[in-house]
Amino acid sequence: MTVTYEVGSGLYVNTTNRCSNACEFCVRSTVESYYGDLWLKREPTVDEICESIFSRDLTKYTELVFCGYGEPTERIDDILEVARRVKERTALPIRINTNGQGSMIAGYDITPKLEGIIDVLSISLNTADAASYQKICHSRFGEAAYQGLLDFAKAATRYVPKVVLSVVDTTISPEEIERCREIATDCGVALRVREFISNEE
Ligand code: SF4
Repeated sequence: MTVTYEVGSGLYVNTTNRCSNACEFCVRSTVESYYGDLWLKREPTVDEICESIFSRDLTKYTELVFCGYGEPTERIDDILEVARRVKERTALPIRINTNGQGSMIAGYDITPKLEGIIDVLSISLNTADAASYQKICHSRFGEAAYQGLLDFAKAATRYVPKVVLSVVDTTISPEEIERCREIATDCGVALRVREFISNEE
């Protein structure tokens, strides 16, 4: 099983296959794998994740990214412990690619815990409204997931230096992208329009 893998100049970390969404475009359901066996027979422990990270030459990378085949915040305490250990040993910036439902998953606002540990949050917005989001992302929280992720983005700006909402340019229209830009501005964050190439949230 693959716990860490390289994407561009980043070192990506695959900690779980659990996710509160079941997105129709998720590469988990469309292709076997881009980066090795990202299906986990079992979730690696914090020590195993750190072992995989520290077995690499970390001077090669520009950032460490929690991503993988699943929603990293399903294991928020574990990934923060890993991030803490990485911070103790390197100056590598740390990003979480997320569906933004981490506080809904935990049942409380997790954003204060990110302070001083996470440098960048990239949150998939995907659509310009809650109904469209639920139609393609099938969150276990229903349409409330959309407002939940916006609240998460807003709250996170108090604790994380860089928070961005992202959309994929091939899945929504230019008009929707503009609406998403306004939504991002209302949340006090930037919008990133990206190409669909991987499970990179
Ligand atoms: S694309 Fe991301 S949020 Fe959607 S089901 Fe896959 S891992 Fe979950």
